[in-house]
Amino acid sequence: MDIEAERSVLVRVPEGLHARPVAQLVALAKAFPTTLEIVHGTKSANPRSAVKLLLLSIKEHDRVIVRGSGADAHKAVDAVCRLLEDTTEAAIPGGISSPFAERAPEPATEPDDGQFRGIGGSEGVALGPAFPYFRQRLVIDRTTVPAAQRAEQVAAFRSSLDLVCAQTDSADATASQIQNALSEIVRDVEWTGGIEAAIAAGLPAVAATLDAGETLAMQFEAVPDPYVRARADDVRGAARAIALNLTGVHDPALGEAPDGAIIIAEDLNAWDVADADLSQIGGIVCRTGTPAAHIAIMARAYGIPAVFGCGMMPEVAAGVEIGIDGAGGMVFVAPGDAERARLMSARTACTAKQDNLQRWASVRPVTRSGHAVQIAANLGSVKEIDAARRAGAMGVGLFRSELLFSEHRRPLTEQEQFETYDAVARAFDDHPVIIRTLDIGGDKSVPGIDIPPEGNPFLGWRGIRLCLDRPDLFKPQLRALLRAAVNRNLKIMLPMISEASEIHRTRALIDECRRELAAEAIAHDRPATGIMIETPASVLLAEELAKEVDFFSIGTNDLTQYIMAADRLNPCVAALSRPENPAVFKAIAMTCAAAMARGIPISVCGEAASSPPIIAKLLSFGIRSLSMSPSSILRIKQFVSEEAGL
Ligand code: PEP
Ligand code: MG
Repeated sequence: MDIEAERSVLVRVPEGLHARPVAQLVALAKAFPTTLEIVHGTKSANPRSAVKLLLLSIKEHDRVIVRGSGADAHKAVDAVCRLLEDTTEAAIPGGISSPFAERAPEPATEPDDGQFRGIGGSEGVALGPAFPYFRQRLVIDRTTVPAAQRAEQVAAFRSSLDLVCAQTDSADATASQIQNALSEIVRDVEWTGGIEAAIAAGLPAVAATLDAGETLAMQFEAVPDPYVRARADDVRGAARAIALNLTGVHDPALGEAPDGAIIIAEDLNAWDVADADLSQIGGIVCRTGTPAAHIAIMARAYGIPAVFGCGMMPEVAAGVEIGIDGAGGMVFVAPGDAERARLMSARTACTAKQDNLQRWASVRPVTRSGHAVQIAANLGSVKEIDAARRAGAMGVGLFRSELLFSEHRRPLTEQEQFETYDAVARAFDDHPVIIRTLDIGGDKSVPGIDIPPEGNPFLGWRGIRLCLDRPDLFKPQLRALLRAAVNRNLKIMLPMISEASEIHRTRALIDECRRELAAEAIAHDRPATGIMIETPASVLLAEELAKEVDFFSIGTNDLTQYIMAADRLNPCVAALSRPENPAVFKAIAMTCAAAMARGIPISVCGEAASSPPIIAKLLSFGIRSLSMSPSSILRIKQFVSEEAGL
């Protein structure tokens, strides 16, 4: 290789190049036409190869040489060095220009300065002030504090503790129950006394607080009751808040974002946004993630423009103006006058288009050749009911019950679940409302439900597998569903089914719940029960499974991930993870044939259900029911009625 650029660099990535930074480095290297080489000691590797990079075993503080030749050599070497030198895990760029993004038709040219390309995750155009949402890195110093300074450290701890308690006391009503319990815990004299004793013995206040927080959190985690266990993360959060206060460092909170802010984050999950008022968020930019991530699904539900896998996004200061084109997957940092004007007119056009679509709300779409198609909503919170009704949703095709748990940061009681399911079913009159039982695991964690570390979470203890092993969680949900089904068009749907025995075991639990409710003289009904088709096994067994259940619903997000063996969250494999792949279409066609042969209803509730080119294909397979984010309903009602071509 003819070396045109070479730099020696000290690796500062926390904990070195483990799997995640390696994936990010590979994506970065692939974004350049340059031939690159990373030399570590006597070994070297092309950074386009994840395996070779991992074999280099580069640790934090190791020195490596980065070399480049060919086009953009200097630019590419600098970009790789910047990534390797970055000390904040949150600041590591991820998912840079995935192959999927490279193929995106818009814009055709390379982005200009200040423009960054990712993957469009939620359509719409937004302009607003940046709100960087990166957790601060806490450096824990354990150097013994001189005796003369210890009293000062104890006083600093007490005033930070008071401040955090005051903040938790003034939290809003939705969180108040949790916060009250939390301030009780953090004020517990045994806990605070232990911290003060450790400080008095010479441990710096930050280290003493974090250590005590971790010890207490682990004690909570050891308690079988999920409600108590859910407090472990809150305790860790409180200890961190005290430690941040002691160091004068400040973690951002989404609740502090100004109206219309564009959130810039490494990644976000449902839990991060649990306390935020989503209607105030102008847009979302994540350095990692893809349109199939749950935060993308939530952004679409709320109509928030969002771009994912935008790994080159720099650290921007709070308040810098950011433009987003959610459909094109473009981000504009401090756009110039011309770009700003273009974005503003695109935003106006988007709003006008949406207003125009409103007339479709009352329409029950029928294709040009006379096939009626049901367009239902995917929901994850009662807060989304209004948007779905405004769009004229013909029921709920998928209620993601695990998002309820994320929203409340804890498992809900049977009564709380009953009230929620009842409220959703009531809101849609006679239309069917399908509540999916908990699909925890994969990328969806819920505070209070421990999932041991897994090598492959998407292939692990997830959905029905976890629920069947945890009747303490599953039975309250089933009882709540049986109660909410009385006089309502409510149905139960089971996620991640791979074999018939999972259905049999669930039915046995449902029967047990019915017997208990009857013995307790509590009104209940037996709702129709269906399954998600999202594993290859469920496709291959579709004929057998169709005999066991009342309906099928195809989850194309996971079905695509599992058929294509391509992680739905990894922007590097986004090109493979596309539901329009012929292998996925074949799986959908097989499932439709099995459902129709048995005469059970079949629908699609994955994100593909709101993609016009895919809808045409789904209709040709016989699908007549689609469920999607409320923000897509009007557009799809119009498409099915006027353009779908069947
Ligand atoms: C799916 O997998 O397509 C689906 C609808 O479920 P989720 O996205 O919640 O995994
Ligand atoms: Mg799924």
